[in-house]
Amino acid sequence: MKTDHAASPNRSRPRRLWAPNAWIDERWQARVRFEIDSSGKWSAITAGVDPSSADYRLPGPTLPGLVNAHSHAFQRGFAGLTHRRDATQDDFWSWREQMYSLALRINPEQLRAIAALLYTELLEGGYTQVCEFHYLHHDRDGRPHADPFIMSQALSEAAADTGIGLTLLPVLYERAGFSEPALAERQRRFRTTVRDVLAIRDAVRSWHLPNVSAGVAIHSLRAASPDAIRQLASACADDKGPIHIHVAEQQAEVRDCLAATGQRPMAWLAAHAPLDARWHLVHATHVDPSEIDAIAATGAGVVVCPSTEADLGDGRFHFEAWRARRVPMSIGSDSHVQRNWPQELRLLEYGQRLALERRNIAADPGAGVASTGAALLRSVLGAGASAAGFRDQAWGLKAGARADCLVLDPQAGGLLGVAPHELIDAAIFACEAPPFAEVWVAGQQRVSAGLHTDRSTHRETFVAAMQRLRDAAD
Ligand SMILES: [Zn+2]
Repeated sequence: MKTDHAASPNRSRPRRLWAPNAWIDERWQARVRFEIDSSGKWSAITAGVDPSSADYRLPGPTLPGLVNAHSHAFQRGFAGLTHRRDATQDDFWSWREQMYSLALRINPEQLRAIAALLYTELLEGGYTQVCEFHYLHHDRDGRPHADPFIMSQALSEAAADTGIGLTLLPVLYERAGFSEPALAERQRRFRTTVRDVLAIRDAVRSWHLPNVSAGVAIHSLRAASPDAIRQLASACADDKGPIHIHVAEQQAEVRDCLAATGQRPMAWLAAHAPLDARWHLVHATHVDPSEIDAIAATGAGVVVCPSTEADLGDGRFHFEAWRARRVPMSIGSDSHVQRNWPQELRLLEYGQRLALERRNIAADPGAGVASTGAALLRSVLGAGASAAGFRDQAWGLKAGARADCLVLDPQAGGLLGVAPHELIDAAIFACEAPPFAEVWVAGQQRVSAGLHTDRSTHRETFVAAMQRLRDAAD
């Protein structure tokens, strides 16, 4: 593993930033100085001070960075390419066949190119950390690569190259369905055992790449046996890393789980897996009230992926029911048809409005938060940090947290003339493009004037990789 990404102190990097206002402790505070220590964390944040000549002036109101809690980076390679229908009906399962066709062609170099382009876009979209639910491990013929970690390395290096933080989650994936003990031939690149998953997690940790960490994942109840789930959970009993699992995204999965186990997926998980605050249930779409009670009692969180769930026709996330039980709720962009969090949160809220014929569903006046945007941001900020493995560490604009921040562009059309207390609503509901002028991760500026600082290189490499993938399909 190359170590040329190892954190090198950059003496020219500003150690003090100053913002005209910043969203600290869930409210806007004026004239804020941020001090960054040598490890890339905030050492002090002070409101109500004037800028000095030693301060780098951030060009607008400043927000904490957000975690994208669910990503399959390779799927960025077919965003926008699945919107044709030749049969009488199209659904998640036919989309999955197209996804497999791409997954069977990608090599490590192409994965790195696709992930790097994606990560520049996620940074421009206001995400400073991404949880990579990673199941594309083996060579195209299904045999392990000579270096079994090469695909994990491709993702880790893409993150290090672009500067986004990464939580790599190698996925336990061992069967095609509840009653299909083996994988299908077209799933041959995904095959893992509990031992494989732990080996990848430990390898990633041993590389010590800056801002790259690892936990584990289970593909889903249909793709992993109860025994293997128990073994993995037990092997992670003393580990602090996050544990993610897809659950109840599709009605067919609920039906199959009921037929195989007599229980719905989340009821099964609550009864048979040692759920706790390290666990994050991705999608959690099809749920009954008793399952929400059961999950809420464990401390586990849920990860909602509004654009992908809309794209795939998954169903509506039951926002109010989950929020009523105060279950931690993070967001992910999953298949990456959308790559910025303001529009992800807008879609989450709009999906609720369309179904319920009401407005401002996410606003939380009972908790003193009348702004829908602020309530949404509050919901996903801490839960996202937990999903990425920062549960026991500070996250956001506070001393001790990694020095990540997003600077709103005061010239963005949707933000013109907007008062500070309405900025978050306007960023989510009135901006067409990501409204961020600058994005900083671990004290380093990664986005300037709205664009990733290495954007053109990563775009060219991506286009070349996509051309080779297209050629391989012909
Ligand atoms: Zn997923």
